[in-house]
Amino acid sequence: MKTPSYIGRFAPTPSGYLHFGSLVAALASYLDARSAGGKWLMRMEDLDPPREVPGAQAGILKTLEAYGFEWDGDVVRQSDRHHAYQDIINRWFSHGLAYACTCSRKQLENYNGIYPGFCRDAGHSPDNAAIRIRVPELEYRFEDRVQGEFRQHLGRDSGDFIIRRRDGFYAYQLAVVLDDGWQGVTDIVRGADLLDSTPRQLYLQELLGLPQPRYLHVPLITQPDGHKLGKSYRSPPLPSDQATPLLLRGLRALGQWVPGELVYASPREVLDHAISHWDADSIPRLGAIEEARID
Ligand code: GLU
Ligand code: ZN
Repeated sequence: MKTPSYIGRFAPTPSGYLHFGSLVAALASYLDARSAGGKWLMRMEDLDPPREVPGAQAGILKTLEAYGFEWDGDVVRQSDRHHAYQDIINRWFSHGLAYACTCSRKQLENYNGIYPGFCRDAGHSPDNAAIRIRVPELEYRFEDRVQGEFRQHLGRDSGDFIIRRRDGFYAYQLAVVLDDGWQGVTDIVRGADLLDSTPRQLYLQELLGLPQPRYLHVPLITQPDGHKLGKSYRSPPLPSDQATPLLLRGLRALGQWVPGELVYASPREVLDHAISHWDADSIPRLGAIEEARID
């Protein structure tokens, strides 16, 4: 079978509704995929039920549909993939590549999020413990299509990181790499808040023998008060009757050409215009300031 040349995806976390920042990320990944004649997959990253907002999964999909987006195939849910995550953890654990960590938050509080390796050779049982993956003392680097070269030394800047939490939930870093590999994703277009997760993901890809996808990290959208629009910020769902103006605003945030007559277009027409004029080289590196609150 010929491997498709472009498979993109959008992978929202249902810890809230779609906000303007995630709309911009969806828009960029969709336009990049479609302008390349590629597929665009939808994956719900529902790894953390306690943080899930009831109704957010359906709400996100409904908003995307109202905004004219069409994805290929069925929505994949990470909650259906636990066996795949656990299989890998078992393999790495039995090979000594992953280990159980019983450190408390308090024990780790003075290390700036860089794990000092206390449990590396302790041989703890995996029950009721977090599972960490050993990282090499190496620098991982990649070339982002918008942000340019990005490098991180895994030993110094991350340390052994968590792939399954103490409460039994699987970590984003592991699930995202396994699923992108399983779904054959060739191009990852997402928010720049995930730039510094990427080197850890490159390392996991290497362990799994997966090909490295291309990366494009879009600038974050900042609120007028300087806060970034994001997960911690509880936004209401984007209004369905504002699809065209918000898509146009998203396109401007991505540095795309937006002719005036598009204000009269349907969301679908806006997207079709944007696909045929998509220019990833015009995406600004740094975030735009959102002038007005959307509500
Ligand atoms: N689920 C992640 C988020 O909503 C995105 C993951 C990714 O695109 O790699 O921030
Ligand atoms: Zn520990």
